[in-house]
Amino acid sequence: MSTIGRLCQHCGEPFTARLADVARGWAKFCSKRCKAIEQESRTGQHAKHVARKASAPRIRTNVPVGGWQWRDSKGEFHYPANMETRHLFYTLRMIWNNFMPADARVGAVKLYEFGRFYTRDYLKQAIYRIAEELAKRDDMRPEWAAQLLQMRAWFGSAHLSISTGPLSVERAA
Ligand SMILES: [Zn+2]
Repeated sequence: MSTIGRLCQHCGEPFTARLADVARGWAKFCSKRCKAIEQESRTGQHAKHVARKASAPRIRTNVPVGGWQWRDSKGEFHYPANMETRHLFYTLRMIWNNFMPADARVGAVKLYEFGRFYTRDYLKQAIYRIAEELAKRDDMRPEWAAQLLQMRAWFGSAHLSISTGPLSVERAA
């Protein structure tokens, strides 16, 4: 009977295994005891993992494919083109007032906490994408249009910087 020296995958002790067992993918443990302990820990971990998965709240964090979308506070994604003008405008103003320097703020200001999903890059995209969509709407209220113009004034003379700190505007030289 041909044999080979192996190390137990549980206790690390060397043991002699039959080559035939090695070929079958067996011979990983020095003893039935080590095999049992290893199996128990693996199924135990698996059971814990399953339990954790079942009790974890379902949070959608995936960014959908097929074009940029706004992720609302409930974690739902919306294409700007499918958003109501009112929703678009207040979303833009909320982002703007939270991330632009104080002297750039328009209208009523409410400050919020943003989750990790809302990176500076994502919010910068949001400002441009939503403003772009709003420009196509013909049902803007006069006060929204006026505030959008105020924001656009910052777009025209400047570009939004995402390098450090809160979103800031760098004046074009
Ligand atoms: Zn062992």
